[in-house]
Amino acid sequence: MPELPEVETVARGLRHAIVGRRIISVSLGKTDFIDDPAALEQHLPGRRIEAVERYGKFMLLRLSAVNGETRIAVNGDASSSLLVHLGMTGQIVPSRAGQPREKHTHVCMLLDDGRELRYTDARRFGRIAYLTKALLAAELTKFGADPLEVSKEQFADRICGRRARIKSLLLDQRVLRGVGNIYADESLWKAKIHPARLGAMLSRKQANKLRLALQGILQKAIVLRGSSISDFLDAEGQPGEYQRHHRVYGREGKGCYRCKTPIRRAIVAGRSSYFCPRCQHSPRGFAVLSLPGKKGRKTKRRRAPTGSGRAPHDEKSQGRKGKSP
Ligand SMILES: [Zn+2]
Repeated sequence: MPELPEVETVARGLRHAIVGRRIISVSLGKTDFIDDPAALEQHLPGRRIEAVERYGKFMLLRLSAVNGETRIAVNGDASSSLLVHLGMTGQIVPSRAGQPREKHTHVCMLLDDGRELRYTDARRFGRIAYLTKALLAAELTKFGADPLEVSKEQFADRICGRRARIKSLLLDQRVLRGVGNIYADESLWKAKIHPARLGAMLSRKQANKLRLALQGILQKAIVLRGSSISDFLDAEGQPGEYQRHHRVYGREGKGCYRCKTPIRRAIVAGRSSYFCPRCQHSPRGFAVLSLPGKKGRKTKRRRAPTGSGRAPHDEKSQGRKGKSP
């Protein structure tokens, strides 16, 4: 799933490619991931894309007021936005209008330079919503601090004293917006903190070490245009490169880059979590999954009792919507 660096990469690409363009018309395919499909068809034509911003794991295409002076903005219609969340497999890429549409293309916005901004999403875990200023403001209050901007004090206040596992806190978008499984594991490894430790058990000094690790990793990942582990592509259709710099994520059984101990995996916060059992001391009694290749999986999976309450959501799990034609 695209996380902060991947979404930032796409947003930067789009900023370069489509800001200043006006939307001429909209055509939709499947719409079950769109909040109000009719609103897109009704409100987008005539609007200019003024800016592309990233907010946590989603993008905001800021739209101009209604085209011309003939239509009057109603219900705070001016300065509305198109929210785009890429979900697991979403891609948004400007293409030449004559170019054949890829499979699973569900939104096409014809631009005034003849190109089409196309949203494709095989699994449709993404989300698209047309939001007026008031609706957007209400939406944004659900999210926590930006990890790149969060101060030492803010971060410690959000983490320390919480009776939830640190991995779960990092993934909770109400605590921090934009962190997902990969960058949570990478930053915990760098800060030498076990993913199953409780926020309450971390000192403010450890919390700050984690904050700095997270910020450094996210910044480096942005420079390398994110991680492409499944099918992430940027706005030019290019994969990212940060996956080559992963230190723990997806490295079960391989030697730790610091101490050579085999990296282990456990389910924390319902997600596969990779860590070094030597560098990242586990809380007492915490079970890990046996290494692949060993007979049977004797070690019990132990899910974190705390967290966002979501169903387990492994990278390999089947999409609930299955494959769409
Ligand atoms: Zn290690």
